[in-house]
Amino acid sequence: MNTFEKCESNVRSYCRNFPAIFHRAKDSIIYAESGEEYIDFFAGAGALNYGHNHDYIKQKVISYLDADGIAHALDMYTSAKEKFLAKFDEVVLSSKKLDYRIQFCGPTGTNAVEAALKLAKKVKQRSGIFSFMGAYHGMTLGSLSISGNVGIRAGAIGTSSNVTFMPYPYGFMESFDTIEYIETVLNDVNSGIEKPAAIIFETVQAEGGIVVAPIDWMQRLRKLCDEHDILLICDDIQVGCGRTGSFFSFERADIVPDMVVLSKSISGYGFPMSLLLIKPELDIWEPGEHNGTFRGNQLAFIGATAALEYRESSHLEKDVKIKELFLKDFLTQEIAPISENIAIRGIGMIWGIDVKNFGGNTFAKSITSRCFELGLILELAGRNDTVIKILPPLVIDMATLQKGCSIIKTAFNELAA
Ligand code: PMP
Repeated sequence: MNTFEKCESNVRSYCRNFPAIFHRAKDSIIYAESGEEYIDFFAGAGALNYGHNHDYIKQKVISYLDADGIAHALDMYTSAKEKFLAKFDEVVLSSKKLDYRIQFCGPTGTNAVEAALKLAKKVKQRSGIFSFMGAYHGMTLGSLSISGNVGIRAGAIGTSSNVTFMPYPYGFMESFDTIEYIETVLNDVNSGIEKPAAIIFETVQAEGGIVVAPIDWMQRLRKLCDEHDILLICDDIQVGCGRTGSFFSFERADIVPDMVVLSKSISGYGFPMSLLLIKPELDIWEPGEHNGTFRGNQLAFIGATAALEYRESSHLEKDVKIKELFLKDFLTQEIAPISENIAIRGIGMIWGIDVKNFGGNTFAKSITSRCFELGLILELAGRNDTVIKILPPLVIDMATLQKGCSIIKTAFNELAA
């Protein structure tokens, strides 16, 4: 049995459909032991916005380790934490006139979602949560219970805590006015649906199939929450940290959620880190009420601070805009014309090719397999995995971005005939 087969059969994990053993990665390229190179259009599902082993961030991490920087400090105040908080405030909060307290959760995204749910229920003294069909918020019981896909909840019994799923715009029920519906339900004491503590939403449903919420929908959602005394939680785990252009994805709607969950690319380097941002007046935690051993990993603080420094010194937002236009042109001009049954959706540097009506999951899988043979890593998203997801590192160079796209085009030319 070779190592790959062992991994597939012995390890209580799952192997993605990539028959290779990867061992090194730099920027937007992953190298396999066999010597093959792969362009990474998956970027750790949004955890690698700065690519693999980003030069500037790596040097900061190495220097910290060389100086015997503290690796683990539980809740102690450290210089690594202090520097991160100062930089986060300077680059992300103050400059945007946002006022949030920061709670380190951890280590991964789902932990921050759990903290948000727990705090929202405590603040409002209500147990209900409204979430959206197609939403993905994580795999622990609380976050799984608010993930709007029965398929992913199938392995877990008893995840139906007090949650109501509403249709997401342009999602499963395309022309349905969700905001009007929620409004009607909340105004009708006999509707059978209790007022929730919070509504949690993604500005782009990423795992849900790259479905982008319209600006006016997000603004109406914010207004509705204000009028009904409901907390608005934005899950910016996958599409935050610059993926849609601005640092927070909700900035394009000019709204301010009551809580924000961040993870994935916040550490800049792929280190586990998750944060809950809380409007100060909602921070009613008692000491020790929500703790854990691995909150606020010190190396992640170093990576995160370096990533924010890099953001400041580069033109990342401008570059993302240029690459957004390139991806949009490529997809609308080269892929969409193949068939009217192919749908293209996206924003910033997260795009999807939906082949639900063009061969479905079987066709989508054949595209990702062929792309892999040609040297490109792509994943699938959407309720039935019919959406080919394009999620390169934000820092990918134009030549590599173009090369990856031409591989997608070749695969479509070969398989869509
Ligand atoms: N929320 C969103 C929007 C996500 O995309 C993810 C991960 N794909 C999570 C939550 C859960 O994060 P993690 O896997 O780090 O627990």
